[in-house]
Amino acid sequence: MTGARVGSALTDEQAAVRDLVREFAREEVRPGARAADAAAAFPEDVWDRLAELGLTGLTVPTAYGGFDADATTYAVVNEELAHGSLAVATALSVHCLVTSCLAEFGNASHRERWLPEMAAGRPVGAFCLSEPHAGSNPAGMSTTAVYDPDADEYVLDGEKQWITNGSRAGVAVVFAKAVDGDADAPDPDSITQFLVPMDAEGVAVGKKEEKLGLRASDTTPITFDDCRVPTANRLTEEGRGLSAALETLTGGRIGIAAQAVGVARAALEAATAYAREREQFGEPLSEIGAIRHKVAEMSTDVSASRLLVREAARKVEAGEDARVTAAQAKYRASEAAMSTTNEAVQIHGGYGYTTAFDVERFYRDAKVTEIYEGTTEIQKEVIARGTFDTR
Ligand SMILES: Cc1cc2nc3c(=O)[nH]c(=O)nc-3n(C[C@H](O)[C@H](O)[C@H](O)COP(=O)(O)OP(=O)(O)OC[C@H]3O[C@@H](n4cnc5c(N)ncnc54)[C@H](O)[C@@H]3O)c2cc1C
Repeated sequence: MTGARVGSALTDEQAAVRDLVREFAREEVRPGARAADAAAAFPEDVWDRLAELGLTGLTVPTAYGGFDADATTYAVVNEELAHGSLAVATALSVHCLVTSCLAEFGNASHRERWLPEMAAGRPVGAFCLSEPHAGSNPAGMSTTAVYDPDADEYVLDGEKQWITNGSRAGVAVVFAKAVDGDADAPDPDSITQFLVPMDAEGVAVGKKEEKLGLRASDTTPITFDDCRVPTANRLTEEGRGLSAALETLTGGRIGIAAQAVGVARAALEAATAYAREREQFGEPLSEIGAIRHKVAEMSTDVSASRLLVREAARKVEAGEDARVTAAQAKYRASEAAMSTTNEAVQIHGGYGYTTAFDVERFYRDAKVTEIYEGTTEIQKEVIARGTFDTR
């Protein structure tokens, strides 16, 4: 049955996308990943190729020139791209968060103005939720949006932190507390989502962060200083911004979990290839029981994590509540990415500790999957809450 899917198997169309992105990642993403990491520079040529392949329009509706991918296809693309480079996959997934917000919460004129160009690759999107003093608890954010009735504009003031694509972006989704000019303190329930072109007056991009891993991905602070945004650029009603962000992040977390599977798979493949070649005590490492058991654990972790990712994606597609399964997928897959990359370095011995092999980069990159789009501790809280509520 063409297009039919059984269990976690892919449809023919999904498998075709996976094969295309797998080949692209192998031929055009992975070869430059080590140099991009060393230079801490995002590979713009790879982004242009993503655009040519239509992948920058992954979550853009077809009416606006996009691919309108289902959740499984989105996950598959993230796994394959991250297998080539986590930095590239991260940049694309954040761009997709922004196009998803526009498609979901924007009005017709927002969608017509931005989505066709973003589907074609530029402007790149940035998602500005975190702040220096509000990461795990975005409700504690300080950025404010004060309404000016005379100009029918909001005035944004505040600082965002850790913004992926910060210096590459042409447009950003920004979260701020809508405040009444006379109020003493902003209401924590007033978070609102705005669309802000990065060339708007009052927007300033800070210095790129020096990071442990994901070095080719661009991460910057962004400040908003007396930045005037027309009311027409408000994507949600006042106070609806945080729940809208959390909706978007359920899909986002499935993407990050899939990326973690991609990195873990890359580490597993590198480790098995090395273990076949490297000989000690007169035999290949692949014949040594301790190494074989490591590989068995790594392989099981990759498969189990992918199954959770696929189940979370299936729930999204079926219109079921996927929050807990998405959190389980992100928690389990990011842990698998850490343990698998750690073991891959171990199987490479001293060579694994050098930049001559990719596994040290996989290890450094993997760590971020336990942090961004909600830390492991926050995922566990979401899972515990869901578990106590349903049993
Ligand atoms: C490379 C990179 C890219 C990023 N890209 C973006 C982006 O594009 N847009 C964006 O908005 N953000 C982005 N982030 C931010 C990221 O989502 C936050 O770093 C993350 O949510 C954690 O927030 P924090 O760093 O402030 O840590 P904190 O919230 O200060 O947490 C510190 C530690 O305390 C733990 N903790 C906090 N609260 C609790 C609790 N209630 N229970 C148990 N443990 C708790 C955390 O799990 C963590 O271990 C990025 C981060 C990185 C590193």
